[in-house]
Amino acid sequence: MSSTTYRIAALAGDGIGPEVMREAIKVLQAVGTRHHLTFQITEAPVGWAGIDAAGQALPDATLDLCRRSDAILFGSVGLPDRDPTIPKEQRPERAALLRIRKEFGLFANLRPVHLPKALSHACPLKPDRQGDGIDILVVRELTGGLYFGQPKKTELITAPDPVDGNLHATHRAIDTMVYTTPEIERIAHVAFRAAQLRRRKVTSIDKANVLENGVLWREVVTRIALGYPDVALEHMFVDNGAMQLVLRPTQFDVLLCENLFGDILSDEAAALAGSLGMLPSASLGATKDQTTFGLYEPAGGTAPDIAGKNLANPIAQILSVSLMLRYSFGLQEAAGTIDRAVAAVIDQGLRTGDIFNPADPAARRVGTREMGDAIAAAI
Ligand code: NAD
Repeated sequence: MSSTTYRIAALAGDGIGPEVMREAIKVLQAVGTRHHLTFQITEAPVGWAGIDAAGQALPDATLDLCRRSDAILFGSVGLPDRDPTIPKEQRPERAALLRIRKEFGLFANLRPVHLPKALSHACPLKPDRQGDGIDILVVRELTGGLYFGQPKKTELITAPDPVDGNLHATHRAIDTMVYTTPEIERIAHVAFRAAQLRRRKVTSIDKANVLENGVLWREVVTRIALGYPDVALEHMFVDNGAMQLVLRPTQFDVLLCENLFGDILSDEAAALAGSLGMLPSASLGATKDQTTFGLYEPAGGTAPDIAGKNLANPIAQILSVSLMLRYSFGLQEAAGTIDRAVAAVIDQGLRTGDIFNPADPAARRVGTREMGDAIAAAI
């Protein structure tokens, strides 16, 4: 029996957040009992729930709780129809999520995309392109590159018109792509370590034929790979990567990307799974004393269209728990128990509306609560 107490801040947020969080906590408690693990779960408001409770999207008490925790289990925040007069910086998406990312230096975003064979109908690709099921982990650098590089500005200049060659006053927008060697090294380590827990292959995405950043990226990733002789490394240009994802997605295990490329390719990969309701994600910070601080959340948002109706698929939130056990706490066995329980329930034919196929005679439509109960029972 382990004597460690794992401290978890559970921030459900808005919309379907509280509904799916309830099921995730149910599953966390079930896995704790099964594997004799002690989880200290403390819930706190965030998002509009934070504004309602304490006047801030990320109340000070919630941030303090996160600081005292080993990991954050996050729901989703934001309700597009609530109070448009609140300035952008105070709205939940920025004031809560971006603030937490910054506060905890969360530089690595992990998005596993798994399409089980039984959900083949939900995938936009033809069955013969899906092989035995798609199983990809996108590892995206989250704090560097084009989104944060300086200078970043729009300025008024005088420049020749591209058509008539005459000088004109015009606006010029500048974004700068910047990566340093240590920034590439640390995200590469995350990808190789993740590959060691999977099928031991990393495909590193770059544009080394055009961008200086791509050349450095490729050099550094190649060097870091030497420390992981059990993991195969291949390099791929981003344009080819985008194409290969729809032509032959089964060739990929871990896809390592810088920020912009990862933003685009992770959404493309997510589309292959058919429903946002199935997709968890992890944002990781630095590793200290064998534990890695991280924030774990569904890839989707607050789904206001189905909130409060027991319709949301809780699997994305439940698989976020599995990622937390795997990547923050190193509890591989317990994480595997959750993954297998989800697979078993899918195999039994249980389906929330987003993954329900009326043409499948084995499929049984269930609500959020029933899905969570079934997964907890399977554990
Ligand atoms: P969304 O992801 O909330 O919903 C898009 C579609 O996917 C909807 O039809 C929704 O019903 C469906 N969907 C999403 N999750 C589902 C689930 N678990 N089960 C079943 N169906 C599910 O995206 P949106 O509508 O563009 O955004 C709504 C709000 O969420 C916005 O305020 C947005 O800013 C916010 N948002 C927050 C996060 C976050 O907190 N990380 C991420 C994305 C969007």
